[in-house]
Amino acid sequence: MTKQTLSFQAEVAQLLHLVTHSLYSNKEIFLRELISNASDACDKLRFEAINDGGLYEGDTELKVKLAFDKDAKTLTITDNGIGMSAQEAIDHLGTIAKSGTKDFVSKLSGDQKADSQLIGQFGVGFYSGFIVADKITVESRRAGMKETEGVRWTSGGAGDFEVETITRAERGTSVILHLRDDAMDYASSWKLKDIVNKYSDHISLPIVMEKEEWKDGELITPGDEAGGREPGGMVKTGEWETINQASALWTRPKKDISDEQYTEFYKAISHDFEAPLTWTHNRVEGSTEYTQLLYIPAKAPMDLWNRDKKAGIKLYVKRVFIMDDAEALLPTYLRFVKGVVDSNDLPLNVSRELLQESRDVKAIRDGCAKRVLSMLEDLAKHDKLPEPAAPAEGEAAVTDVVSEEDKAAVGKYTKFYAEFGAVLKEGLGEDFANKERLAKLLRFASTSSDTVSVSLADYKARMKEGQDAIYYITADTLAGARNSPQLEVFKKKGIEVLLMTDRVDEWALNFLNEFDGTPMQSVAKGAVDLGKLQDETEKKAAEEAAETLKPLLAKLKEALKGKAEDVRLTSRLVDSPACLVVQDAGMSMQLARMLKQAGQAAPEVKPVLEVNAEHALVKKLDGSVHINDLAHILFDQALIAEGGLPEDPAAYVKRVNALLA
Ligand code: ADP
Ligand code: MG
Repeated sequence: MTKQTLSFQAEVAQLLHLVTHSLYSNKEIFLRELISNASDACDKLRFEAINDGGLYEGDTELKVKLAFDKDAKTLTITDNGIGMSAQEAIDHLGTIAKSGTKDFVSKLSGDQKADSQLIGQFGVGFYSGFIVADKITVESRRAGMKETEGVRWTSGGAGDFEVETITRAERGTSVILHLRDDAMDYASSWKLKDIVNKYSDHISLPIVMEKEEWKDGELITPGDEAGGREPGGMVKTGEWETINQASALWTRPKKDISDEQYTEFYKAISHDFEAPLTWTHNRVEGSTEYTQLLYIPAKAPMDLWNRDKKAGIKLYVKRVFIMDDAEALLPTYLRFVKGVVDSNDLPLNVSRELLQESRDVKAIRDGCAKRVLSMLEDLAKHDKLPEPAAPAEGEAAVTDVVSEEDKAAVGKYTKFYAEFGAVLKEGLGEDFANKERLAKLLRFASTSSDTVSVSLADYKARMKEGQDAIYYITADTLAGARNSPQLEVFKKKGIEVLLMTDRVDEWALNFLNEFDGTPMQSVAKGAVDLGKLQDETEKKAAEEAAETLKPLLAKLKEALKGKAEDVRLTSRLVDSPACLVVQDAGMSMQLARMLKQAGQAAPEVKPVLEVNAEHALVKKLDGSVHINDLAHILFDQALIAEGGLPEDPAAYVKRVNALLA
C-alpha cells in the first residue's frame, strides 16, 4: 500500500478537538491511556495465543517500553502485543468503534468543565496522546503477519491521517509522540516514573525504561530530584530497568496495597474521575477458587437505567485476561459494581455461553453478590455515628472516641442510596435468596422524615401500639405522596406512612409482602382496615353511616357504572370528600398509568370510589338534582388528586362550569 491520506470520522475530529482543549489541566493521563492500550494489546495476544502458540514468534516476554529522546523531542511507548494490520490501524485509530461513544460525543455541551468530567467518565483512550503531542506516529505489525506487512500511521490530530505500508521486524506497536514544546518535561525519567507509579503501577506487565546516570557516573535513584544539577547532564546507560511492580494489583496481599493504589486501579478500570465509595478484596478458597476485587462507585453512570448496560466486571482466568463486561458474574441489579474476578478453575478458552452454564460461575456469582451486600451493610451500619449514651444520674457525660475511619464512613450509605438505591430494589424481584438482606438495606422517605433515610426496621420500631402493618404509598412525586388524600386518616392518628416515589417501587413491592413478620400494606389498595387502631365509637359511627347512606351509594354506583368498580364509604379520609383505591390484589392505578405511558399493555384498572360520609359535600349529595354530574366530578377530582387525568377532561370542565354557573 502506498501512502494514502484519509479523513477522521466526524465524531473523532470533534473528540480530538475536545481532548486537546479541555483536558489541559490533566495532561498526564495520556500516559495511562497509552500504557493501558499496550497492556490490552498484550492481553489480546496472550488470549489469541491460547489457540495459536505460533503468534508469540518465539518471544513470550510481553512488556511495555518507554523511551524518550530529548533532541528529537519524542516519547515512544512500545509493546510486543497483538499489533495492528494496516486495515486495523485505519479502523481503530480513525473511527470510533466503541458502541456508545458516538452518543457520548453528541452529549458533549461545549462547556469545557462539564465536558472534561464527561470525558473522564468515558476514557478518551488513544486520542489523549494529542494533549502532549502535535504529531503522533504509530508503527505496528500484527502478530503472525509478514515483516513486510507493517503499517505506519501518522497524524497531526486535525482532520486527517496518513497510512502506508512499512517493513517492521518486531511484532507489536510503537506509539511515537512528537512532544509539544510545553510538554517537554515528559521527556524525563523522573517524571515518567512518577506518573507510572501513580497511574499504572497495577499493570501486570513489566514497564521498562532505559537507566540513566549522571555524567560523572553516579546512578540516579528514585526520588533523587535534579536538585540543582544540570538537567541535561544525564546519559543513558544501555541498561533497561522495570519501573513498576509488574504484578496484577489483585494478586498482591492486601496489606501491601495502599488506598491510593486501590483508588487508581479503580479509576483505570472504570474510567471514572472520582474515587470509589468503597471496595472489597478477597481470595475465596473452597470448592471454587477465585480472587474478587469489587468496587462501588460514588456516582451513577449515565446509562445506569439501561438493564442491558455492560456489566462492570473483568474476568481473568489464572491471571490471563479473558473478557470485559462479564455479565454472568453478578446479578443484573448489581450492575453498578466494577471490578475484577480472577478464577483458578475456569478453562482459559471459556466463552460467554459457557459462562452462563458453568457451576463454578454460579458459585462465583453468588459469592460476589453476597460480598457486595456485606459491603453495603457495612456502609449502612456506619452511615451515622452512634448517639452518645445519656449519662447516668450524677455521672459526667462520656463521649466515645470515634475513629478516623468511622468518621470517614459517615454519610457514605446515604450517598450510595441516592445514586443506586432504585437499582438495588430490582433485586427484590431478581434475587430471592437475598431478599431479606436487601429489604434491610432499603431506605424511604416517610410522613415522619423528609430525607430518604427510614429503614423498615426503623419504621417497625416506631409502630403504634395495635398497628399491625407497615403502611406505604406510591406516587410520582414526593409532594404528591405527602399530600395524597389517602393519607388523611393516618396523619390524624399519627401513623407513619412510607412515601415511595421511585418508578421501580410499585413493581419491587410486589415481591415484598412482609418485613420481619409484619405485612406491607399500600394505603391505596383494598378497604382501609385500621383494626385495633380504630376506637369503638368510631367503628359504631361508621356502621351507622353505612346504613343511612346505602341508597345514596347505590345512586352513585349507578351513575358511575363502567367507570368505578364499586362505591363505598371509607374511614381513610378526613378533609377530602372522596378518593380512589384499587382492590387488594389489583394493579395500582399508578403502575397502570406508568405502563400505559411506556406503551405497554396494562390491564384496565377499574378503581373503587370511596367517599367520606363526614364531608359536607357528600352530605349535600343526597337528594341533589345534580347527583349524576356530581358523581362524575367527585370521581374525576379524586383521580386528579392522585396525579391522574380524567378520561375526558373536556367533559369534566363542562360539568364543573355548569355547576359554577
Ligand atoms: P479502547 O482502548 O477503549 O478500545 P482507545 O482509543 O484507547 O480505545 O484505542 C482504540 C483502539 O485502537 C483499541 O481498541 C485497539 O484496537 C487499537 N489500539 C490502540 N493502541 C493499540 C496498541 N498499542 N496495540 C494494538 N492495538 C491498539
Ligand atoms: Mg484504551
